[in-house]
Amino acid sequence: MQHVVWDWNGTLLNDLQQVVLSVNAALASVGVDPIDADGYRAGYTRPVVLFYEHLLGRPVGDEEWEQLDITFHDAYREALADAELAPDALAAMDRVEEAGWTQSLLSMFPHNELLVALEGHGIADRLLAVDGLRGGRGERKYGSLVKHLEHVAPRIGGKIDPKTVVMIGDALDDADAAEGLGIKCVLYASGSHPREKLEASGHPVAGSLIEALALAGITG
Ligand SMILES: [Mg+2]
Repeated sequence: MQHVVWDWNGTLLNDLQQVVLSVNAALASVGVDPIDADGYRAGYTRPVVLFYEHLLGRPVGDEEWEQLDITFHDAYREALADAELAPDALAAMDRVEEAGWTQSLLSMFPHNELLVALEGHGIADRLLAVDGLRGGRGERKYGSLVKHLEHVAPRIGGKIDPKTVVMIGDALDDADAAEGLGIKCVLYASGSHPREKLEASGHPVAGSLIEALALAGITG
C-alpha cells in the first residue's frame, strides 16, 4: 500500500451525534418520531432513501425524499460546528506522512461545504486530493471513487495500481466501493454502524484510526 483514501463523516470526523440530530430534524418535517444513536446504527443503509423508507415504514416518493434530504443537510450544516475530529485523526494523518505514504479524502458530503469543514479543522493542506459530492443525492460511493482516483493519479505519478491503495471508512458503502475497484478496505467501527455488521462484510475492522492503519500495513 502507498496511498490512503479517507472517508470523512464517521471516520475522520466524529459526527454521529450531529447526524442523529439532523435525521431527527428530517423526520420531524414529515411528522415522524425521533430516533436515537442505536436506532440510527440499526437502520442506516445506502442509498439513503432506503434508510428513510425504513424509518417511515413506507415508500418515499421523489419529492418527499428531496425534502427529507434538504432538511437533513440544513440541520446538519447548523450542527456541524460542534463536531470534532476523531480522537486520533491527526495522529493517524501524521503516521501516514511519516510512513511516506500519501493520503486523500473522498466523501459523499457536498463538495464545497466539505472544503470549508476541512479548512476549519486545519487538515485541508495535508490531503493530496479532496472530493465531495457534486450534484446528486445520497448516491453510492463506487462511482465517486473511480473519479477520485482519476484526480489522485496524476499527483502520485500517473497510473494507480489498486493494490497500492487502501480505503479507510466506517460504512459498508465504503467497502463496496473499494471492492468494486479491487482496493483493500479497512473499516473503522466508529459507532455509526454495528461492529458485527462491519465484521460480517469480511473486511478488517478497527477500533481506532491508528489500528486501521496498522491493519493496512502502517505501524508506528
Ligand atoms: Mg462515513
